[in-house]
Amino acid sequence: MRKSPRLLLVFLLIFVCLSFCGNTAAKNKSALFVWGGWEGHEPKQCVDIFAPWLEEQGFDVEISHSLDSYLNVEHLKSLDLIVQVYTMASITSEQQKGLLEAVKSGVGIAGWHGGLADSFRQNTAYQFMVGGQWVAHPGGVIPYKVQIINKQHPITQGLSDFKMLSEQYYMHVDPLNQVLAATTFSGEYAPWIKGVVMPVVWTKPYGKGRVFYTSLGHVSKDFDIPEAREIVKRGMLWAAGVLREQDK
Ligand SMILES: [Zn+2]
Repeated sequence: MRKSPRLLLVFLLIFVCLSFCGNTAAKNKSALFVWGGWEGHEPKQCVDIFAPWLEEQGFDVEISHSLDSYLNVEHLKSLDLIVQVYTMASITSEQQKGLLEAVKSGVGIAGWHGGLADSFRQNTAYQFMVGGQWVAHPGGVIPYKVQIINKQHPITQGLSDFKMLSEQYYMHVDPLNQVLAATTFSGEYAPWIKGVVMPVVWTKPYGKGRVFYTSLGHVSKDFDIPEAREIVKRGMLWAAGVLREQDK
């Protein structure tokens, strides 16, 4: 009984320290959200979930509804993070050049579902950066499981396997990706893919830039699943260099 107040104090100190350290790490960090493309993926609603949260973490957040934001390369290079939420559509060669140059120079990029990995189907140079391209979601919106593959990485550390009711993305993926979570196809809607294990969350480098991607997040409601929301939050912080793997 006598120890309780002291224990409370210790917890309080830890909490204060964590809050302080977190905000310090994200202080002076800046992020640009670029949203648009196919409306079925609710790009604006999804940005409205994550942009205010990044601001709360201490980021200076800019939101753009135009790919022309990729034309100002010097400005892009001054950022820590680009979050793209832009399904299908098309990108001009100048816009693509700006984006790829910025990421290659060390700016992080984060995204989910079709907003990053089904953006510009004609642009293989862009896909070379992302590390994957959506090709199918057999059965449409279906129940499926997400399995945490890497329990040490700060993006997935402490998370348990979880269930989704959404599109289970079948993708063409880059062997370079560090896969953090995956899903197994039942074969119910395409028998020949039964048992295929497909990445759901990955990180990869592109030049000096850090790329984070998850195939979760078909619509904004998908982020009501706490694990899905947490993975995107941590993924953004990781791509921005705020959340880092343990130094060895
Ligand atoms: Zn979708």
